[in-house]
Amino acid sequence: MARRPLVAGNWKMHKTGAEARAYAAELRALLGRGPLVPEVAVCPPFTALATAAEAFDGSAIAVLAQALHEAPQGAHTGEISAAMIAAAGATGALVGHSERRAAGETDEQVAARLRAALDAGLDVILCVGESLELREAGETRLWLARQLASALGVVAEGEERRLAIAYEPIWAIGTGRTATPQTAQEALAHVRAVAGAKLDGTALRILYGGSVTPDNAAELMAQPDADGALVGGASLEPASFRDIVRAA
Ligand code: PEP
Repeated sequence: MARRPLVAGNWKMHKTGAEARAYAAELRALLGRGPLVPEVAVCPPFTALATAAEAFDGSAIAVLAQALHEAPQGAHTGEISAAMIAAAGATGALVGHSERRAAGETDEQVAARLRAALDAGLDVILCVGESLELREAGETRLWLARQLASALGVVAEGEERRLAIAYEPIWAIGTGRTATPQTAQEALAHVRAVAGAKLDGTALRILYGGSVTPDNAAELMAQPDADGALVGGASLEPASFRDIVRAA
């Protein structure tokens, strides 16, 4: 089955609403009016979500949140629910990004947040990945299988169409140190095999993330199990993000 590639830009804690609006105008102009071959998304911070959704309205570029809380509402100071994200005009969310996990998000919360997002009608990019310590200890496969088993336990067959998994080795995120295409492919194939036990692995999109740039994007995304990329730093400039979209 042919899987449509997906390229998503994670802005992390960058860009105000005004900056998001300027970015949207520039990226829309760079990508032109026609339909895009890959699916393209950007993930602004919460405060710029509604502005970005409005600025990308009518384009082929989706707007996703970077995180969410599993509760529908309540006493959760500083948190945002799936319904709030949808009301802001976003159509999906990242779940389980390693920077959120490092700040204390547990596997149980990742699973609950994944379920809450799907229940609210949002698409999800679930992030998994190992630390350098785990990789050097030869624990990568086991670790990925554990993260996936926990998160995918809440996903039902058929929901793979609204879910993508981003394999992001933590040691490659924001470090300028990219996994070699072979290392990436091995992990991506493993993720597909593990997820395939539960979901339709041929339909599921699996992205590589970790210091993707216009220079390395084509080779990484050409791997047989890579269906696109989750891009952090190199998505902050519209021209650089456009080059990665083109590579896909
Ligand atoms: C990310 O934020 O998911 C990411 C992969 O960041 P970077 O591309 O900067 O490594």
